[in-house]
Amino acid sequence: MAKIIDGKAVAAQIKEELKERTAQLKEKGIEITLAVIQVGKDAASGVYVGNKKKACAYIGIRSLAYELEEGTTQEELLALIDELNGRKDVNGILVQLPLPAHIEEDKVISAICPEKDVDGFHPQSVGALCIGQAGFVSCTPAGIIQLLKRSGIEIAGKECVVIGRSNIVGKPMSLLMLRENATVTIAHSRTENLKEVAKRADILIVAIGRPKMITREYIKEGAVVIDVGIHRKEDHRLCGDVDYDDVMPVCGAITPVPGGVGPMTIAMLMNNCVESIRLQS
Ligand code: NDP
Repeated sequence: MAKIIDGKAVAAQIKEELKERTAQLKEKGIEITLAVIQVGKDAASGVYVGNKKKACAYIGIRSLAYELEEGTTQEELLALIDELNGRKDVNGILVQLPLPAHIEEDKVISAICPEKDVDGFHPQSVGALCIGQAGFVSCTPAGIIQLLKRSGIEIAGKECVVIGRSNIVGKPMSLLMLRENATVTIAHSRTENLKEVAKRADILIVAIGRPKMITREYIKEGAVVIDVGIHRKEDHRLCGDVDYDDVMPVCGAITPVPGGVGPMTIAMLMNNCVESIRLQS
């Protein structure tokens, strides 16, 4: 029977550690502040922003919420980011994505000062990750590394296949696994013989955005399977990109959805907020 990798428990452990570090910083008179900007009223974004605020409150991070109208112009948003970049009392700036269609996400991400880029999406943060320099790392991939390490899963020397090459998950994930000395293959929608490629993996990381696409035919016996996908089914329950029930008897360990990768993303955002103090000093 495969081991279930409990992201909820690992995330809770990380949050406890961060709570302690935040309390120690407060004793030294250092308070951490995260500014969260949301444009428009997208329901899912509202839930994510709410969860981030709750996590901040739990850990002891001050959060400033900017809920802007759907019709906010790009210039207005950039002006707000510019103001927050200049504020000494603001350590992290997060713009909830997606943004309304009239705003260019790339321009907004690039406007955030890299020292405050707690989402790790700024080109400078991505470049730093690529060449092994200090900087913020995108939260979901960073969370997956923590999940593997804290579950006692060896990464160095292992064959890792990442399916998906997005800027926020697949690419930084591959770079992080490389940094941890895995042998990394990146697969995507144009990959030929995906099943055979995936079957090479000791650690298979799936971030494709297609409900239950990965079945046991993609899995090497005993492999570790990390499912990044999140989808809401018609019955309102959540599922991932991996067909959990089908893969379970074949793999060695697997993350469930919900309760796997999801909780780690917010925990690592909180970690980046706490780390911002070090990067800014
Ligand atoms: P994107 O849509 O940006 O990227 C999907 C990637 O999967 C692309 O690189 C695409 O290839 C590849 N892909 C799509 N279809 C196939 C296919 N049939 N075979 C092989 N590769 C395929 O998605 P994200 O990376 O943003 O997200 C992936 C999933 O993870 C989503 O379900 C999302 O909701 C979830 N997610 C979960 C998070 C969490 O906290 N748990 C955080 C972020 C995302 P190509 O480049 O060739 O188009």
